[in-house]
Amino acid sequence: MSAEYRDQTRVCVDCHNEFLWSAGEQEYFHERGFTEPPKRCKECRRAKKERRGEGERQKGGWK
Ligand SMILES: [Zn+2]
Repeated sequence: MSAEYRDQTRVCVDCHNEFLWSAGEQEYFHERGFTEPPKRCKECRRAKKERRGEGERQKGGWK
């Protein structure tokens, strides 16, 4: 149970900026059962979430 995670640099599909997908976030992703890496940077994820409304926080997740 000693998976190794390394910080990764990814490109956001929304703003095309590079963002860091940290080892800690990767671990969090795996714990939550997500298999696909995030496509958006934190700012775009948050912006998208806000656009959809706070009420969907529970069922929406990261997708
Ligand atoms: Zn972005």
